[in-house]
Amino acid sequence: MPYCRECGAKLVYDRNAKLYVCPSCGLTYTAQELLVESQRAFEERLKSGEKKRKYSEYLEWWLSKK
Ligand SMILES: [Zn+2]
Repeated sequence: MPYCRECGAKLVYDRNAKLYVCPSCGLTYTAQELLVESQRAFEERLKSGEKKRKYSEYLEWWLSKK
């Protein structure tokens, strides 16, 4: 099950409205919105992973200079 991007609560699927509803803050999401959201989160994870790798490369370079 997907999670609410605002408060992190587990979303509940409303079959009648065909929407995902957050029981905690009341936000609603369409399946399409959730798809876009999860893709964006995935890309951000990739980006932050890249940043970390670059930083450790820099650290190795800096340590090897000593
Ligand atoms: Zn929420």
